[in-house]
Amino acid sequence: MPIYEFRCAKCKTTFDKLVREEIKPQNPVICPNCGSKRTRRLVSRVSSYRSGSSGGGDCAPSG
Ligand SMILES: [Zn+2]
Repeated sequence: MPIYEFRCAKCKTTFDKLVREEIKPQNPVICPNCGSKRTRRLVSRVSSYRSGSSGGGDCAPSG
């Protein structure tokens, strides 16, 4: 499951939260520090797993 990083717009605290499903406006992420709903998801800087090399197709126009 992906872990996203959030930032509270009220107390400016940053926290990471494990998101199981898509974040919807009706159930926003609550700030664990002040309990505010004004949180914004930051750009994911969580180290992701590197998938193995997959066979890619090189389509070079011959001729
Ligand atoms: Zn807060």
